[in-house]
Amino acid sequence: LQFLRNLPKIELHAHLNGSLNIDSIRELAAKVYGVQTKEFSTLCERFIKFEKGAKLDDCFEKFGFVHELTSTKEGLEYATELVIRDFAKDNVIYVELRTTPKANGNMSRRSYLDTVLGVIKNKSDLYKIKVKLLPSINRAEPVAVAEETVALAVELATIEPEIIVGIDFSGNPNQGNFKDFIPVLSKARNHGLKLAMHCAEVDNPVEIREMIRFGMSRCGHGTYLSDSGFEHMKEENIPIECCLTSNVKSGTVANIGAHHLKQLMATCAPKVLCTDDSGVFDTTLSDEFFLATESFGLTKSQCIALTMEAVEHAFATREEKLMLKMQIYKYTRLQN
Ligand code: 5GP
Repeated sequence: LQFLRNLPKIELHAHLNGSLNIDSIRELAAKVYGVQTKEFSTLCERFIKFEKGAKLDDCFEKFGFVHELTSTKEGLEYATELVIRDFAKDNVIYVELRTTPKANGNMSRRSYLDTVLGVIKNKSDLYKIKVKLLPSINRAEPVAVAEETVALAVELATIEPEIIVGIDFSGNPNQGNFKDFIPVLSKARNHGLKLAMHCAEVDNPVEIREMIRFGMSRCGHGTYLSDSGFEHMKEENIPIECCLTSNVKSGTVANIGAHHLKQLMATCAPKVLCTDDSGVFDTTLSDEFFLATESFGLTKSQCIALTMEAVEHAFATREEKLMLKMQIYKYTRLQN
């Protein structure tokens, strides 16, 4: 495990509000809101507790807890820093954070994104980590909200092209209709933004076909892809973002042994290991690698190869990819 902890890692699928771990939530509550009660601790425990047989729908209810803490500028600012800090602590050297801009009495969607961007700009060097931002479309919200999000992303990407590099399509897959979002997703793509799409997270063959036809740069989860779906992803070099703990805890795969990572490894199909929501699912990227080694017998060199593969699929520039590969290579050479 120590080798995996120290391995410089690449995180490509991390939702900001889902990535606050329990200690950071307590820290955030205490520092920004002065909350340190026993009741709050109990709420935190409940946040990461999953009953056997939990359903994907149950998971989405958990986010409300963190969303309350990040509903002010100060809360969001500190939460973003804590998430960046926690990834860096786990030796993640590059992370693509996704987050849904939210409007409330305290913030507009623009100020939400400005706040997160500000922290990324000011704190990445401090924690020695490269951070990108993918504004998220929540498919459970109206298309008009997605249109605002994409318009903001397009505008902000002209100001911070090195940080805003794509759009995430997420939210409860049992809600909303993918087809309705095609025009707005096309707009994002036509403006040069990459698309990371939650696809085949639930068994909905019609929608899966529509998504595949539309195309994407990376596929989130891909749990319910058919054999021909997996083949298509391989042919098009579209990686599946595999989130082992998330898929098991939310019940989208029956057990870890049944996870499609096994098949992806066996067929040399493109794949990346990711955390999804390291806070909610109480994991780290090192833990995910460890779980993969325990469950599928991955060797050290396969773990290094997976990390290098993640660099290839990152929404980063060629120069950035070269730097990341050098960092990984330096570490692995020291180990030999
Ligand atoms: P946020 O966008 O608030 O920073 O992160 C939490 C949000 O990300 C959730 O409310 C949900 O919309 C989305 N999300 C987090 N995990 C998942 C997941 O596993 N599947 C999907 N489809 N959406 C997710």
